[in-house]
Amino acid sequence: MIEVPQEKELIAIIGAGTMGAGIAQVVASSGHAAIIYDAQAGAFDRAVGSISSGLNKRVERGRLTGADRDSTLYRIRRADSLDDVAAAHIVIEAIAEDLKMKQELFAVLEGVCPPETVFATNTSSLSITELASVLSDPARMVGLHFFNPAPAMKLVEVVSGRATSPEIARDLGHLVSGWGKHCVHARSTPGFIVNRVARPFYAEALRLLQEQVVSPATLDAIMRECGGFKMGPLELMDLIGHDINFAVTNSIYNAFFQDARFKPSLIQKDLIDAGYLGKKSGRGFYDYSSLAKPETPQQLGPQQPPQKVIVRGELGVASALRTLFGKAGVAVEQAFEAIGAVQMG
Ligand code: NAD
Repeated sequence: MIEVPQEKELIAIIGAGTMGAGIAQVVASSGHAAIIYDAQAGAFDRAVGSISSGLNKRVERGRLTGADRDSTLYRIRRADSLDDVAAAHIVIEAIAEDLKMKQELFAVLEGVCPPETVFATNTSSLSITELASVLSDPARMVGLHFFNPAPAMKLVEVVSGRATSPEIARDLGHLVSGWGKHCVHARSTPGFIVNRVARPFYAEALRLLQEQVVSPATLDAIMRECGGFKMGPLELMDLIGHDINFAVTNSIYNAFFQDARFKPSLIQKDLIDAGYLGKKSGRGFYDYSSLAKPETPQQLGPQQPPQKVIVRGELGVASALRTLFGKAGVAVEQAFEAIGAVQMG
């Protein structure tokens, strides 16, 4: 006899793309029944396919039992229409990053769901206050910002708009923490915390490409291997999806009254115009087809080391460099001056 897995409260996810699929996996892995609605035919099956292959990899690596994989998949169902989400305790929206589309959806949901249903949005940048303004009860709207890939990334921003109920935000934070996430509470401001801080990471990389300073593979390799980042900015934009990343940049740029620091890039727009949306479309800065030759970073050939180095000053960087040069067998001369500098000869 097949054992029917236990289920916690039903949670609905609207949008079965990159984030909706990942969030559904998190929700179902935590024991909740998950129901997914997507307006596009085939999106639900693609989402379940990607969740299954992610779970299968975890089983192969010994991190998940086959039984846990099966019960997680068992808890995920398809909603054929928005009416099917009426029984959900929480609705998590993960459709395109478009204010009007999201507002239209929530206005419909308010007519379908009972008054106690909590509405959460996975928006990366849009104002929770403005999104909630279409509801007759805006207190029930909260930002619940997961990061990509949702099952792996620990951080979740719980974002309150002007009218969000503090109790609902607090309870959602507790719920998400129970799913093994690190939850941070933030007020609604363009880009919240992480996407605001991350903007220059993308923008400066795109400016470097525009100025033809460096190739994509070289730039990513420098940030990964010298900067200590897990991913370079261009491969990260490919993972996020250029349509989404560009929409987020536009939204933050406009929300800050066209502050030039957040200006969107023509290079990224060109990729979107070509349909090069990144990993999800098989091509972005890089080609993800199985036949593609990986791009390699440019590297300098072997260089002759300097014979002698003069280190001026005693600042921290000068002292670290002196040690490194000494280890490399380069003669180091110390000059005692106020300002730290290194001169090669
Ligand atoms: P996506 O393009 O991969 O998926 C969006 C899905 O929503 C598609 O399957 C589409 O068919 C569906 N959809 C569109 N309009 C709909 C509607 N009215 N009703 C039902 N379904 C609809 O997008 P994504 O990358 O999953 O992003 C979704 C949201 O999550 C956006 O708000 C985005 O800013 C945010 N987000 C994205 C990332 C990321 O790295 N991609 C990270 C964090 C947050």
